[in-house]
Amino acid sequence: MNVLTRTFKEGRTEVVRIVGGDFFEALQKVLEEKDIKMGKVSFIGSFKKVKVGYYDDKTQSYVGIEFNEGPYEVIAGEGNISMKDGKPFPHIHVALGDHQGKMFGGHLMEAEVLLVEMFIEVLEGQPLERKPDEETGLTIWK
Ligand code: ZN
Repeated sequence: MNVLTRTFKEGRTEVVRIVGGDFFEALQKVLEEKDIKMGKVSFIGSFKKVKVGYYDDKTQSYVGIEFNEGPYEVIAGEGNISMKDGKPFPHIHVALGDHQGKMFGGHLMEAEVLLVEMFIEVLEGQPLERKPDEETGLTIWK
């Protein structure tokens, strides 16, 4: 067992609306322009196309699944912002709904946005840095 904790104070909340384009490109631009290094992310909306995945610890790599017949409702998008290689890095998971109202989702790898309405709660304190971890093969908070 290996547990890390760090204490932060709640800072400001940024409200973000994205119409069209690449989800991660838009989010990265907001994070850098607003100088957000640590935070909580939650959003709803709709994606035209999306790729979600899961981490396979046996191969130590992400397996991606593409969905190209949207739009898909973003029922819940949740994530965090921390630092990686000197830049803010978002880690996002989504629960999505298809045309039958069935849910699926996973680790968000790529998305083409129809609409996203997002809250970013900025956390004040020494930002956590993601660094490679040999045991898991992931880049984790160190
Ligand atoms: Zn993940």
